[in-house]
Amino acid sequence: MTEPDDLSRRNADFAADRFIADLGINPSGNLMVIGCVDPRVDPAGVLGLRQGEAAVIRNVGGRITPATLRTLAMLKKVAEANKGPGTPGEFTIVVLHHTDCGMTDLAAFPDLLAEYFEIPVAELDSKSVSDPLGSVRADVDVVQQKVRRPASRVTGLVYDVTTGLVETVVPPTPLRAP
Ligand SMILES: [Zn+2]
Repeated sequence: MTEPDDLSRRNADFAADRFIADLGINPSGNLMVIGCVDPRVDPAGVLGLRQGEAAVIRNVGGRITPATLRTLAMLKKVAEANKGPGTPGEFTIVVLHHTDCGMTDLAAFPDLLAEYFEIPVAELDSKSVSDPLGSVRADVDVVQQKVRRPASRVTGLVYDVTTGLVETVVPPTPLRAP
């Protein structure tokens, strides 16, 4: 098991060797990733993200719930408060789901899921909790319906925990401007 002291030692190594002092508060890659808490699916690892490149939101399943949308709205305000020269080009929202997700185990608890998505139990089928291809399509749809952002696009990926490979299920699609 990992001891807290191990983390302190690793941090000292990080600060000595890999720390970058001049990173900005906005992601240098114009990139936002929404993914699952599953330890096998750390976006920094599976997508090869560099420090400061992406903002990352992780929750159960990497789902676009009302809470995720509230977080995105807050982050938009943070970005507006920190406008700088920025990075040219489009902003990309990546919805990253994966095979063998623990969400599947939660299908046995419809009340919990309904509360999570803030919908009636009768509408849970639309969230496709047992199928990552369906769930990533459903969540990209929610982003397209609910998120307004200029010069931005959304894409949906599914990571296969047995191969380490990501499949693009929804190619980058423009978001409607505010
Ligand atoms: Zn998961």
